[in-house]
Amino acid sequence: MVLPVAEPWFGVEEVDRGVMMITEPHVARLWRANLYLVEGVAFDLLVDTGMGVGPLRQVVAGLTERPVVVFTTHSHLDHIGGHFEFADCEILVHAAEAGGLARPKGPEGLSYASLPAAKRAEYQAAGFDTSGLMVDAIPSAGYDLAGHRFRGVAAGRLIGEGEVIDMGTRRFEVLHLPGHSPGGIALWDAADGMLIAGDAIYDGILIDSTDDADVGAYRRTMARLRDLPVRVVHGGHKRAFGRGRMVEIVDGYVASRAGGKSPVAGEAGVSF
Ligand SMILES: [Zn+2]
Ligand SMILES: [Zn+2]
Repeated sequence: MVLPVAEPWFGVEEVDRGVMMITEPHVARLWRANLYLVEGVAFDLLVDTGMGVGPLRQVVAGLTERPVVVFTTHSHLDHIGGHFEFADCEILVHAAEAGGLARPKGPEGLSYASLPAAKRAEYQAAGFDTSGLMVDAIPSAGYDLAGHRFRGVAAGRLIGEGEVIDMGTRRFEVLHLPGHSPGGIALWDAADGMLIAGDAIYDGILIDSTDDADVGAYRRTMARLRDLPVRVVHGGHKRAFGRGRMVEIVDGYVASRAGGKSPVAGEAGVSF
C-alpha cells in the first residue's frame, strides 16, 4: 500500500499561555496522543513524545531555542515513541514507569497485524478496525512502515508526588495519579488552575483494562481529581476541558466502575 506523505507530520497549536499542543493527526485514533511544549525561562518542558513516527526534535527546535527537559506522563507507547530523539536531554519519569521506558514492548512495524493476537482481539471486541495500519500517511517519501520500532531510553531522573518543577513562567507541582498506569504523573499549576494530566483523565473513555491498570487506584485518583480546583485540563488525548466537564468525567467513571470490574476498552488512547 502506498500512503500519501503528510508534510508537516505534526500539528502545532497554542492551547494555553505558553503551552503548545503538538499532535499526530495521521496516527490512528487509538494511538493519537497529545504532546505539550511548555515555555520556561531557562528551559522548556516537553510533555511526552508521541509514536516516534515523524521526527519530533526538529519541530521542537523550531518552537524554542531553550534547552528541553522531557516530562514523561507514563510509559505507554503512544507517549514515549519519540523519547529516543531526546536521549541527550534530561528525561523525567516516575520510578514505576522507568522500566517500560527503558524496554518498551512494542510491535515491530506500524501494522495492526504486528500486534499480539490477544491485543488485536481486544481492540476488535471494542469496535476498532484492526485490519490495516496505525497511520494513514507517512512522514516522508520512502518511509519504511515495517521498520518502525519503539526504542527504549534510560530515565534521566526519577520524579514523583509533590516535587516542584519551577519554570520561571509557571510553577508546577507533580501529582502522582495511578490507575491508568502505576506511575502516571501530572503537572499541576495551582496558581493558574492548569492541569496537564497525561492519561489519568481526558475527555474520552478512560482506559483501565490494560495489564498495568488498577481500578481501585484509579478510583482514588478520580476522588482526588474531583477536589482539584482546575480552570482547565489538558489531557493526554482529545481536547481540553474545564472543571464542570472534569467532574462529569470523574463521576461517569466512578459510576461505571461501581461493580468493581473493568469492561473492555472503548475508544481513546491506549497502549498495550
Ligand atoms: Zn496510556
Ligand atoms: Zn495514551
